[in-house]
Amino acid sequence: MEGQIQRVAGFLGVEAPLACVHYGPSAVEGNCGTWNACTRASGVFATSGSIFHELVHAVRQSQGGGGAVGTWLFEEGLAELLSGYRWHPFSARLEPSESERGPALLADFPRGEDKFVPGDYAIAGHFASWLRANYGDASLVAFFNDPRYLGGEAYGEAFLSHFGLSIEDADSAWRASGLKEYSWSETCDPAYMLTWEGSALEFTDRVDCNAASTFGPRDYGFVTLRSYCFTVAQAGTLRVEFIAGGGRVDLFPVDCVDTGELPPESYDYKSLGYGDILELAFAACTWEVAVDGVAGLTRDFTLRLTQR
Ligand SMILES: [Zn+2]
Repeated sequence: MEGQIQRVAGFLGVEAPLACVHYGPSAVEGNCGTWNACTRASGVFATSGSIFHELVHAVRQSQGGGGAVGTWLFEEGLAELLSGYRWHPFSARLEPSESERGPALLADFPRGEDKFVPGDYAIAGHFASWLRANYGDASLVAFFNDPRYLGGEAYGEAFLSHFGLSIEDADSAWRASGLKEYSWSETCDPAYMLTWEGSALEFTDRVDCNAASTFGPRDYGFVTLRSYCFTVAQAGTLRVEFIAGGGRVDLFPVDCVDTGELPPESYDYKSLGYGDILELAFAACTWEVAVDGVAGLTRDFTLRLTQR
């Protein structure tokens, strides 16, 4: 949770606030009415499915001195796209021309009034993704931090100065952009990048609930060490060894584009049980290393990759 607050604050260029988080279904039920999560002056109320989204609101509220900022369309759009974090990417897939409600209509709804319906979240997330993809992070952040937008009084003016077009024109351009899927995440933590020593890469660590890079327990009581990644510079076969007393390792391709030049298995995720030694085809991509263990147990392991 701290990681997400720091990441969002870093993205916006503001100081990371202290957020009071009430986590779990009972906290949400007692404080959010019919919503499945909420962020109020008294804190963030959320469950595992909504926490990364709500923490974005918490950072934004700190920018408004504890009160709501901006408008539904942009705040929910930002919360959606920045909710994609680590192993839970946010994906928005939409054919904007088929959408009855659009940004021009939704931009007028002030926060705190119940005019935003559940289906609008997908539009907000997709439109914010379109803005980010077309105008870049710097323009997006400048708009979100513009006092004319934050206060909500002249958001149209702020929009025009940072994106160079009116919300009505942006609505039309977004609708003309066609069916698109946007996916946002930051699976790999730069601090956990694994490096090659010549033709070999060796990674020894421990899955441990007390370590910052270990997540869980999740389904069936597993804990997972994640966000470690390595890059394969040239496609080819690697010998992969997973040396451990138990558990499993998965290697997932990250932002890897299948160009069709290599056999499909080069792009597939790889899974090895403990003690496995396999020869596997890898595309030239970044790969995430996810090691599973059992909650409550620490698990030492070594992953060794050797170029063939
Ligand atoms: Zn929200």
